Amino acid sequence: MKELLVLSGKGGTGKTSLTASFICLAEKAIACDYDVDASNLPILLKPVDPKGHEFSAGLTADLDKDICIDCGLCRDLCRFDAINSKYQISTLSCEGCGFCAEVCPVEAISMSERPSGRWFASMSDQDGKMVPLFYAELRPGEENSGKLVAQVKSSARQKALEEGYSLLISDGSPGIGCPVISSLVEANLVVIVAEPSVSGFHDLKRVRELLALRGVRSILLINKWDLNPEASEAMEKWAQECDIPCAGRLPYSSELAAAVAVGEVPVSRKELRDLILPVWENIAKTLEKQN
Ligand code: SF4
Ligand code: SF4
Repeated sequence: MKELLVLSGKGGTGKTSLTASFICLAEKAIACDYDVDASNLPILLKPVDPKGHEFSAGLTADLDKDICIDCGLCRDLCRFDAINSKYQISTLSCEGCGFCAEVCPVEAISMSERPSGRWFASMSDQDGKMVPLFYAELRPGEENSGKLVAQVKSSARQKALEEGYSLLISDGSPGIGCPVISSLVEANLVVIVAEPSVSGFHDLKRVRELLALRGVRSILLINKWDLNPEASEAMEKWAQECDIPCAGRLPYSSELAAAVAVGEVPVSRKELRDLILPVWENIAKTLEKQN
């Protein structure tokens, strides 16, 4: 089984619309969205009958006021100031260390699983081709996005093993933080979607730095290259020096923007399919050569 991961140093590069396009162009693939803070792939792929599963990545303290004798120990000793003067516990501040439950003389505090988000297994109907789609939603203010990404990934890989899929195509989070690091596990090739601008170049270099640290191969795709041809050329030259192949350049397309605005996968329109297909073929060829 191989996994193709699509990343960008920042949001707004066209990463998700291109990922959705690659999923539709691939002969047979499982789709994953690792952007657990703002999963947008399902907006384009329109999951059918998604099955939701609770996700918990830690514990939280629950205080029973009927048992509490108001000794104040828990409030005074919680180093995260999660317990207020009325003995209410802030779920946002509680780190789940369990110390308050240990020190409570009357066992008024218990620890329970903390609901951190949900992950979903579904199918997407792409013109009659049924594509398994896995994605997740982290609750607002919750941490452990990397663990939720790992949950989505392992569920998708399990499905692939059970049903004989040999390819996962995954939409990563923007940036280079915890969810991106988690999404790199077992990825065979990363497509870096970059926009030709000063900030786009800066973010591209940061992604590359992370991939070099993790030993993951990548291929560059410059999107909207014609908005800044000089910067596009500089990016390609830099990629060559770093031994990063180039999958191609895509021009700015108002047709693509119009498709995404109404929630359509770009390659469902012929003009866009003709534009994106050669880039996909280059990526697929490069992926074939990866171990
Ligand atoms: S579990 Fe730890 S962080 Fe949470 S309220 Fe108790 S002492 Fe504070
Ligand atoms: S340590 Fe236990 S008894 Fe004391 S205030 Fe906290 S919950 Fe109440």
